Amino acid sequence: MQVCCELCGRKEEYVIARWRCDCGGAWTLIPSRSFQSDLIEKDVHSIWRYRSFFPAEIAALRESLGAGLTPLLPCTIDDRVVCLKLDFLNPTGSFKDRGVELMMNALAAARVEQIVEDSSGNAGASVAAYAARLGMKASIFAPQHASPAKLAQIAMYGAAIHTIPGSRLNASQAAFEAVGRGVVFASHAWNPLYLLGQQTAAWELWEQNDHRAPDWVVVPVGQGGNLLGYFEGFRLLLAAGFIQKLPGLIAVQPQRLAPICDAFEQGWKEWVEVCSPSVPSVAEGLAITRPVRWRHIVRAIKESGGFCVKVPEEDIIPAQRWLAERGFYVEPTSAVVMAAYQRITKIVERNQSVVFSLTGNGLKANPASMR
Ligand SMILES: [Zn+2]
Repeated sequence: MQVCCELCGRKEEYVIARWRCDCGGAWTLIPSRSFQSDLIEKDVHSIWRYRSFFPAEIAALRESLGAGLTPLLPCTIDDRVVCLKLDFLNPTGSFKDRGVELMMNALAAARVEQIVEDSSGNAGASVAAYAARLGMKASIFAPQHASPAKLAQIAMYGAAIHTIPGSRLNASQAAFEAVGRGVVFASHAWNPLYLLGQQTAAWELWEQNDHRAPDWVVVPVGQGGNLLGYFEGFRLLLAAGFIQKLPGLIAVQPQRLAPICDAFEQGWKEWVEVCSPSVPSVAEGLAITRPVRWRHIVRAIKESGGFCVKVPEEDIIPAQRWLAERGFYVEPTSAVVMAAYQRITKIVERNQSVVFSLTGNGLKANPASMR
């Protein structure tokens, strides 16, 4: 497995213990082969239908909880039909299972027995579930304000939870310290195999959409794994000639904390430090003040012809309710995409196809936050 540093461009063979480049940049995997539709295993109903595009040593193990192949359903809004990608129906209730299923199989294939992860909740729950499935010991560092339902889910899988006071960054810092003591980092923000697993969402969407790319894909952005999965997945389809253009990627963040929107719109060359808001957004999964792969995310939005939307806090819960009243019960973090709908329709033409990625199950959110 060859990886390339997003920051300095260094290329080397991937070694699990080297979770980032010496320069501090994150690794991305260099694709080992081009996309070929005849290599899809159509009788496999999970991310493993694409195992020909995964590194061979991981594909051989293939311990699954059934991530992937989530429904794509039409939904009518104001006489306009859009599509909803129901990634909250993944095994632990979040889109992160795609990447985590692949990442954890890679760690198991390398006989890793103990891992650490930092998370606002969903990635921690996913890592804890796969650790249980694969017989590993997991320690999850989460901010003290994480949703009680997510913390309960992590504990039920048998992982050790460490709740850290203060901002989301403090939880990351605590995880770094554990990694410094020699524990393997199973990080959804840093691990290049996680990002490969997320690409399955793009390939699936292409299959479900009659082997075409939609014009637009709308995603909430925290660490940006979902958006980058769509970008890299569709780039592979484009390079192989299966689509003619990339879908425009629309990144949605809460107005209270929208560093990617600022970096994209203001053309940041270097990161500008951002503080956590004094009152956190109800979209708790997006409370990331410094996304690890921010340059990659900004490039993805730009190269795809996409744009950013900041949603006012007061629009998020009504959007969650709007979806629930149509049968889709997602957490506030997911509902931001629908809260962005009116702003999106000012740019997106009426005859264009739009897919909204619904990323996290509503059962995971704190009911007290939904008033
Ligand atoms: Zn580097």
